[in-house]
Amino acid sequence: MKLIYTHENRFLVGNAHNILEQAGIRVVWKNEFASSAIGEIAPFDTWPELWVVDDADYDHAIQIIANALSAPNAPEWICRSCNENNDAAFETCWNCQTDKTEMAQ
Ligand SMILES: [Zn+2]
Repeated sequence: MKLIYTHENRFLVGNAHNILEQAGIRVVWKNEFASSAIGEIAPFDTWPELWVVDDADYDHAIQIIANALSAPNAPEWICRSCNENNDAAFETCWNCQTDKTEMAQ
């Protein structure tokens, strides 16, 4: 297993997780619920981590994440539930996890 992505915002990690699963890549969480331990250990150690199960998928997964997180021309979308701006790469609102496809157009 290899670490593919980590961020202090677990919703961003969740979006990366969704993107990779949709691409057929098996990934697992580590530290998903570590935020309850804040105060006991250094903040960085509590960041949720996304790990690729099969090392052979790593290079592919890195590309998918890089593409998804750096789509400069893709329009942002605004969550209908909480009005937060979301990057176009994300399928769910980073703030409240409302699904993008539930947006009224
Ligand atoms: Zn929202």
